[in-house]
Amino acid sequence: MKFTRKEFLKTGALIAGGVLIQGNKFFYSEPQKTLGLITIRDNFGIYIERGGTIGWYAAKDAVVVIDSQFPETVNKFITELQKKTTRKIDLFFNTHHHADHTGGNVYIKDFAKKMIAHENCVALQKKSYGNNPGTQQVYADTTFADEWKQKIGKETVVAKYFGPAHTGGDAVIHFEKANIAHAGDLVFNKTYPYIDANGGGSVASWIETLEKVIKYYSKDTLFIFGHGATSDLVTGSLGDVVAMKNLLSALVDFVSKGIKDGKNKIEISLSTDIPGTDGWKERVAGMLRIALEKVYDELIKK
Ligand SMILES: [Zn+2]
Repeated sequence: MKFTRKEFLKTGALIAGGVLIQGNKFFYSEPQKTLGLITIRDNFGIYIERGGTIGWYAAKDAVVVIDSQFPETVNKFITELQKKTTRKIDLFFNTHHHADHTGGNVYIKDFAKKMIAHENCVALQKKSYGNNPGTQQVYADTTFADEWKQKIGKETVVAKYFGPAHTGGDAVIHFEKANIAHAGDLVFNKTYPYIDANGGGSVASWIETLEKVIKYYSKDTLFIFGHGATSDLVTGSLGDVVAMKNLLSALVDFVSKGIKDGKNKIEISLSTDIPGTDGWKERVAGMLRIALEKVYDELIKK
């Protein structure tokens, strides 16, 4: 990391207000301050401003970008990227369909040769936003079902789908040589997650999917996450993926017990003292309640 703890903390407070979710609608707060392009290793880095973390790889012989935030933030990212390289983006990926990861596609398309996403990501983006004339959509032109792989420059990029989780179309984009993986919103690092049931997500599947992710990657994999409790937590390790799985299991266990004890949805969802959630924070007030409601709705359906 090339920026200081102090800088992180400063933006951390701003990032914390990143997304407010009410029901199925996403509402985004005012744009946050960006630290520009943050290098995490050699030619790899991230860009944080508003919405999901953008991942980038900028080498002489290959430029790859993952996720696009919003048009008004991705344009600043592109300006920064162009100071680093004049090369066009060879490969652009969406990790999933949510607007804070695909909203900037409309801007980035002019700078990208190829746009890739899981087939469900494109379908869900069309379903969720395609009928809204207020938000112009650009969809990936290349889709895959299980895996998509390409050698580019000195890297091999592999996009993999492990199953439903946060949504029905979450992919992990892995740079095999560097062993760096963008996990999108499969991990909300140390911050309560959003389970998008209407967008194909499921807490039970999310746990199973993370088990597969944990088996596939290694303890040396450097991960980029869509969201973190603070901006220094948008990168992490396999241990953070394990912690995410454990958090989801803790929520399921808590809600299952509540249902068994005859508690209703309101009693369960207003709980704040949940075993196994020490150190987890709400980025926005209400995120824990919404997570518990989603888990309740899913468990009661069974
Ligand atoms: Zn998301």
